Amino acid sequence: MVITDIHCYVCHFPLTAPFRPSWIPGYEQTTNGAVIIRVFTDEGIEGACAGVAFAGEWKGFAELLKAFLVGRDPFRVEDIVGILRSAKVIGVRPWFVEVAMWDIIGKACGQPVYRLLGGARDRVKAYASTGELRPPDEMARLAQMLVDEGFQAIKLRLRRFDYREDLAAVEAVRIAVGDDVEIMVDANQAWRIHGFMDYPRWDLKTALSVARALESLGVSWLEEPLPMRDFDGLSLLRGSTSLRIAGGELNDDMDDFRELLSRGCYDIIQPDVTFSGGLSLCKKIASMAEAYNVVYNPHTWTNGLGMAANLQIMGAVPNCTHCEFPYDPPGWVPETRDAMLTEPLVVDGEGYVKIPDGPGLGVAVDWEKVEAHGERII
Ligand SMILES: [Mg+2]
Repeated sequence: MVITDIHCYVCHFPLTAPFRPSWIPGYEQTTNGAVIIRVFTDEGIEGACAGVAFAGEWKGFAELLKAFLVGRDPFRVEDIVGILRSAKVIGVRPWFVEVAMWDIIGKACGQPVYRLLGGARDRVKAYASTGELRPPDEMARLAQMLVDEGFQAIKLRLRRFDYREDLAAVEAVRIAVGDDVEIMVDANQAWRIHGFMDYPRWDLKTALSVARALESLGVSWLEEPLPMRDFDGLSLLRGSTSLRIAGGELNDDMDDFRELLSRGCYDIIQPDVTFSGGLSLCKKIASMAEAYNVVYNPHTWTNGLGMAANLQIMGAVPNCTHCEFPYDPPGWVPETRDAMLTEPLVVDGEGYVKIPDGPGLGVAVDWEKVEAHGERII
């Protein structure tokens, strides 16, 4: 089999309401921006995946990609990983392209990718991953609504300038949902976006103070308390609290995770297959983590295709416990998060997400909708 052509779209799907992501202070998001790749082969099988798009950053990469990949065998994944490593030098995260190869391989084999890569489980416990900062009483109301919808786990953001206000929001949610619902928290300190407004900056002592305060609130994990390559700080923090420390969603490739794991930085690593290395590298990273008794719960907050890709690794590896389900109504909901799919990914009545079990990534792309909301750049 050989790749015969590649199409690449930059899409902006309108949101149902403006969304204010706490990780980009001062930025009001009105669309879900995605770069979507469609790979064609001589056997008539197509593959797709998506990354995140803001403005015109993908144009040069897409042209390079076509020159690199047309004529190659999509089953030669390790060869394509090498090509994508070299494409990184132009400054974008190319790994979603590798996932499109697995979409082709799965379809050629008539199997979902997770069954080809290990087949560990058919469904995974979801946590509703919220993104906006609200006053404690509003967070408590939202959490109660999420529990009423079936969620058994909820993630909150810690991004207020005074972390005692973050703690008040967590406490209000704990009181609202009781002790049986899991609460995770995410400080998003690993990659700090300084473009629109100032943001809170934690150091090791701040992170330790927050972690110790959270211990008594029964929080399942504290995510990204420090910069993504502060290996010494993360290791010291993890050794100083009983709270689980999570992170790694934007770390990249084997070398970053070798350091994070061998230096004992995290209890839970979260490489997103579309950001951190594709499915094959993330499978290797998951195996490294397994050897260190570390959990691998990938980040998924991009879009429906990216989430489907990460669901396939969740279904494949033994050391996954939770699925991030990005959901923060009214701005961020499955219908617009997954706008490029024919059907959104959903949570069942017990709060679990089924791993899509159709061939490849197991989801269908609505190409008419992609064309209606996007510009084809190659
Ligand atoms: Mg996160």
